[in-house]
Amino acid sequence: MATLDTPITNLPGIGDKKAAAFHKLGIYTYGDMISYFPRRYDDRSRMVPIAMAIPEDTCCVQAMVATQPTLSRIRRGMELVKFRIADDSGVMDVTYFNQPFMKNALTMGETYNFYGKVSAMGSRKSMSNPVYEKAAQPRITGRIIPVYHSTTQLSQKVIVAAAEQCLNACGHQVIDLLPEEVTRRNNLCQAEYAYRNIHFPESMLALDIARRRMVFEELFVLACAIRILHSGSSAPVEGLRLSSCDLNTFYATLPFTPTGAQKRAMEAALSDMTSGLSMNRLVQGDVGSGKTLVAAGCIWAAAQSGKVSAMMAPTEILAEQHLRTMRKFLEPCGLRVGLLTGSMTAKEKRTAKAALANHEYDLIVGTHAVLTGDVEIPDLALVIVDEQHRFGVEQRAALAQKGEKPHVLVMSATPIPRTLALIIYGDLDVSIIDELPPGRQTIDTLLVNESYRQRLNGFVRKQVETGRQVFVICPKVEEDEEKENDLNLKSAEEHAKYMQSEFPDLHVGCVHGRLKEKQKDAVMSAFVSGDIDILVATTVVEVGVDIPNANLMIIENADRFGLSQLHQLRGRIGRGEHKSWCVLVSDSTNEVSRERLKIMVKTSDGFAISEEDLRLRGPGDFFGNRQHGLPETHIADLGADMNVLVTAQEEANKLMETDPELEQHPKLKRHVLKLLEKAGDTFN
Ligand code: ADP
Ligand code: MG
Repeated sequence: MATLDTPITNLPGIGDKKAAAFHKLGIYTYGDMISYFPRRYDDRSRMVPIAMAIPEDTCCVQAMVATQPTLSRIRRGMELVKFRIADDSGVMDVTYFNQPFMKNALTMGETYNFYGKVSAMGSRKSMSNPVYEKAAQPRITGRIIPVYHSTTQLSQKVIVAAAEQCLNACGHQVIDLLPEEVTRRNNLCQAEYAYRNIHFPESMLALDIARRRMVFEELFVLACAIRILHSGSSAPVEGLRLSSCDLNTFYATLPFTPTGAQKRAMEAALSDMTSGLSMNRLVQGDVGSGKTLVAAGCIWAAAQSGKVSAMMAPTEILAEQHLRTMRKFLEPCGLRVGLLTGSMTAKEKRTAKAALANHEYDLIVGTHAVLTGDVEIPDLALVIVDEQHRFGVEQRAALAQKGEKPHVLVMSATPIPRTLALIIYGDLDVSIIDELPPGRQTIDTLLVNESYRQRLNGFVRKQVETGRQVFVICPKVEEDEEKENDLNLKSAEEHAKYMQSEFPDLHVGCVHGRLKEKQKDAVMSAFVSGDIDILVATTVVEVGVDIPNANLMIIENADRFGLSQLHQLRGRIGRGEHKSWCVLVSDSTNEVSRERLKIMVKTSDGFAISEEDLRLRGPGDFFGNRQHGLPETHIADLGADMNVLVTAQEEANKLMETDPELEQHPKLKRHVLKLLEKAGDTFN
């Protein structure tokens, strides 16, 4: 008897060639086939009498072959099989082009189902090349038919047949991963019903019911996996209780009024830090939304209790920028700000450490150097991590080890849709800064192709001549990157050479991730100080220093970047008083690519962009390939199924509250572990 583990090659008619094609789709067993869900459906369920078939409509008719099919050759070898069909209500012509075998495929006087598009010439209706089969044993007509992702080696007919045979053989063996009470509470159907109707829905309603169950199950497993990842950190932990203070005192020292969103974030953080529980808060805001001020407010609040804060930046140069900004915000209210980075001289470091040990700083800004070994920060109460997605979870934890369980504030400019953030950062509370400071200028974004190159270069020249600086972003580092054999992709190094040859009198710099940290910082410093006019870079500049003088960004092969990434990159300009432009260069004619790029042209709202990105690409791609995100989902569309995700997570939490290791649910556990293993690289 067949089981879910029976090899797909056991099906009749599957030889080596077809087997290879199935394997290519990841289908090795009956179980794999049953879990291989259709991409879409063809609703062939609607049967209409011929009289009711409307031109341009695609439908099924059940009719008798009324005339002997005839084969004729029309111009240039085109072969035409033609006959007439009839039911009680009327007649219709049927033609097949270049399928001479159709002459003998049908028997006059027999009844068949025909599925196709109706056309009309005067009062005569016809169908050409309809799908057909005997009415007595309908399999591919008269019902909703699945359409699968396939390869050219595997026809839909073969996959559909395989799905049906596998379901018939072991559809009753499918594994139900959901605990019964979860199924009941959420009005979900049984697993077997879901699997059968996902492939061969009895009706559109049945499909909905089946799909909802499968989506729920997938997200439930995902939620369990995330819960395991976060386990240990999600329970509230006792923390340092700061004394409460009035943030208005801090606001009064600022050169501007904080936005409502900034105030809300600061007040939420303050109430965390005075609650007696440990704060774990993510402040998420678009580029330029003013997250640094929120951090400053928290640092100020900690200082009111005589406590010290540490702020960690991903690079030296960002640390220095934070130092400047923090001094600007905090020194007017009497706070002392120090710096500690890896590139400081031994003596400078010693001095800074001594000052820290003596509690001479209220804030220490630094890079990983702060993390490493022997730095002592007495009275450390608050750790601020900038640009979360550049840091591993481990580093965050390492810093939080210093002192007695300090509060943690994470700032991220990756605008993740709110619900998704809750899922990924299950252990964090989230503040969203959804309001930009007033008077922020918008960046004009243009989409052009290669034919625009000369004019674009003219535009670059014009900006540099008026004293501005230019970013040029390329999708890869150098010409011979193995994994990218696409010759049309611009590499930063090659393109820098090209730009230098186009602009021999200007200073062209190049920066990318293969450079050493020191080299990178040197190039960035040269750009900050204005020694470099044109900086050709990879996405390493996506998080980075403020260069208010840069007002033009050109993004080469723009279709190769994720929307959120493009948005992040674009946020590097428009930071000064100069009118700014972002030019997306793409020769792609792919519809979806152009669609995506047009979103960039249309909007500058990071959240809108990330929602679109999520919708168009799915969460698997959402964070780029290497940055952590969620594993790819098969059936759930995280954009559309967000509410299911929330419910699934609630249920997962409820279950794991009483059964944290899923010991009572071994089948579920096995699936969760499999998912964690599969997602291992991208997940943490
Ligand atoms: P983010 O880190 O969120 O990208 P920043 O904190 O760097 O943004 O802030 C961007 C700029 O806006 C900074 O120059 C900052 O001084 C300024 N800014 C922040 N908040 C306000 C505000 N409420 N009103 C006016 N300007 C502000
Ligand atoms: Mg910032």
